[in-house]
Amino acid sequence: MLKEDSIIRERLHTIGSSQDRNMNMVRGESRRTFVGVETSAFSGATLLSFLLNAHPRIASIGEMNGLLRKNPEEYVCSCGNLIRQCEFWQAMRGEMAQCGFDFDVANFATKFHLGGPRWIQRLRADSFHNRLLNALRDAALKSLPGERRRFEKLVARNKAFIESVLRLTGKDVFVDTSKDRMRARALKMFSPYDVRAIHLIRDPRGVVASRLQRHGEISGRRAAYEWVWLHKKLQDFPSFLAPARYMQVRYEDLCSEPRAMLHKLYRFCDVDPDFEPPDFKSTTHHIVGNPMRLNGISVIKLDESWRNKLTPEQQKQVWEIAGDFATKYGYSW
Ligand SMILES: [Zn+2]
Repeated sequence: MLKEDSIIRERLHTIGSSQDRNMNMVRGESRRTFVGVETSAFSGATLLSFLLNAHPRIASIGEMNGLLRKNPEEYVCSCGNLIRQCEFWQAMRGEMAQCGFDFDVANFATKFHLGGPRWIQRLRADSFHNRLLNALRDAALKSLPGERRRFEKLVARNKAFIESVLRLTGKDVFVDTSKDRMRARALKMFSPYDVRAIHLIRDPRGVVASRLQRHGEISGRRAAYEWVWLHKKLQDFPSFLAPARYMQVRYEDLCSEPRAMLHKLYRFCDVDPDFEPPDFKSTTHHIVGNPMRLNGISVIKLDESWRNKLTPEQQKQVWEIAGDFATKYGYSW
């Protein structure tokens, strides 16, 4: 039996007293690390969640915003079971209940949608591209009682979810790939977690090709502009984190030098950097998100299919829009 499976079964059958549980939460929370993978869709975040989840101290369920609009009755967990029949997700319901929260895979209810008029939503989420202004905005959000209550309520549910996953897996570093850019900031502001961010970057031509293939209604021009807009925003991410808590990783480097990159990523997550990842199929994963979660990972292969998917004209168009910015990350025409 795999170690993670046996831990989940043990948790299922030997859930301690509520007093022990509360003590564990108080003792454990201050040591927890939350790592947000900040990136665009189709940039390798699901691959990264599989790779990191193989480490004995790192847990990732992929996108903790959940299934979103997918049908939970048909949704398959990366372990191969329908998510409703997956033992891990069944155990999550019990763990969340012990923390005082209802939980159903149909709606994780963890997404940072705090509601209100559009201007306040933008004020919460957008960047002023200025460290001082961003810090003043965050201080204002913390001091307004109504805003503080909204954040604290959602942060409490997010914390219960993270604690539940960490207890079930016996790990202490949680990695989220939801692309919910407010989560890391909210946890930094309202939780005791050690919050870190991995900024994952992929060649814009690869991202645009995948978006066009999946969402044909978007134009290549628009997808390229959105790539630039998003990564400019993510470059501002360190404004609320110490420099050592922010790391940039290129998808292409992760695929071409996985051992070396994982060593750096493990070090960044403050776990044993010399851990030798096993064949990833030998680790049980319960990951939700991109459909590639179902392919299984035994060989890490760089996906450069954009070279064939995009016509030369499309490649040129993407590069005219995103090339200058992509060059900063080491990409070239
Ligand atoms: Zn599963």
